[in-house]
Amino acid sequence: MAVTTVATAIPAQSPDDLSVWPATTARGPHGDPTVSGVELPDVAAQFGTPVYVLDETDVRERCRAYRSAFPGADVLYAAKAFLCRAMVHWVHEEGLGLDVCSAGDLELAVIAGLPPERIVFHGNAKSPEDLRAALRHGVGRIVVDSTSETARLAAHVPQGTRQRVMARVVPGVAAGGHAAIRTGTDDRKSGLSIADGSAMHAVTRLVEQPRLELTGLHCHIGSQIDTVKPYVVAVRHLVGLMARIRDRHGITLPELDLGGGHAVAHRPGEHPLDVPELARRVRRELADACAQSDLPVPRLAVEPGRAVVARAGVALYRVLAVKRTGARVFVAVDGGTSDNPRPALYGVRYAPRLVGRRSTAATRPVTVVGRHCEAGDALASDVPLPDDVRPGDLLAVPVAGAYHLSTTSGGNSVGRPPVVAVADGRARLLVRRESAQDLRSRDTGL
Ligand SMILES: *Cc1c(COP(=O)(O)O)cnc(C)c1O
Repeated sequence: MAVTTVATAIPAQSPDDLSVWPATTARGPHGDPTVSGVELPDVAAQFGTPVYVLDETDVRERCRAYRSAFPGADVLYAAKAFLCRAMVHWVHEEGLGLDVCSAGDLELAVIAGLPPERIVFHGNAKSPEDLRAALRHGVGRIVVDSTSETARLAAHVPQGTRQRVMARVVPGVAAGGHAAIRTGTDDRKSGLSIADGSAMHAVTRLVEQPRLELTGLHCHIGSQIDTVKPYVVAVRHLVGLMARIRDRHGITLPELDLGGGHAVAHRPGEHPLDVPELARRVRRELADACAQSDLPVPRLAVEPGRAVVARAGVALYRVLAVKRTGARVFVAVDGGTSDNPRPALYGVRYAPRLVGRRSTAATRPVTVVGRHCEAGDALASDVPLPDDVRPGDLLAVPVAGAYHLSTTSGGNSVGRPPVVAVADGRARLLVRRESAQDLRSRDTGL
């Protein structure tokens, strides 16, 4: 895996700064953070390491915050950030719908009791199985991503029925934390460009299909976007297209889905996207742009993934080795790119801390690396840890809830870590550790 690591000095982190930790974090008996009243070393002792801890209260509070910032809008949790049955259950109870992009996600959501009409199905390359599953379960919306998909989808829709669809368009807005997660510009694989006419072309195909009902436009302009402006610009471009669709086809689209991409802080001092401000500015722009084009204001939808679940998660690792080479100190733990590829893929930087033992040693910058046999297997660089960090210590990495477990790989046959929910002083297993037996069971040939 190719990696570019830019080592820049960061201010030494105060051990008291728990600002990026889950909502229920408090200081426990030894000055250690507890989450929902649970001590992290107890979780490690009971479930082993590496282990992912998820604060149920934090997830629920985020869902409620979105609902109150966007009254009258649909808030759809983006399943690709992290999905398990409990997660489906929580977001459903808090009044959110779900955005999925595979038959697998969809089936898990339906099994967990989410009404299919609350589900939006995405994907730039939906397989025939995906389309069949989406139609069989009766998902609320399918988001069409290309012109060729239109006929393919229509062919799967049973005669005499209609499937509601949205068109994913590319508003031509550059935003997002890293080139690999920017999706709002014309050179990306997802969506139909407004600028080159493919969005209008696809819309024309869609409105001609008697088995499809176009309900609105969708866009997703990127990820880890920390300012409101790109969303406001996207709204303007989308309403412009809605007006042209009205002029050309005489139809008024009742819905507008702005996707997700709302930034979170991974380290103290970083700025998350201001969600209430986003809601205010988007509402205002939508009202103004629609008034100018003489369009009724469409029903809004947003699809936050990371911003709902990232901060609820804490990854716990055991230190296996400490190596001092010249000026550098490498602290190697029992996980790595197999459970968190994000530092290697996108250069995401984290603020791990020592837990379970009070150290009075001075801190110095170290590089926390994983256990995999790849040079790029780093979890965090230039992070201050006590100078006496040693094998057997526990490291906790906050803001680990999104795009860790959902991007895991089977690298080095280590098995995927378990997920443990904490709530009201209790820890309970949501997803068990992948065992050697699990891994062997798929290996059926010789
Ligand atoms: C990934 C994705 C999201 C969620 O993105 P976040 O950055 O996690 O908020 C929402 N909608 C679509 C279509 C996506 O692809």
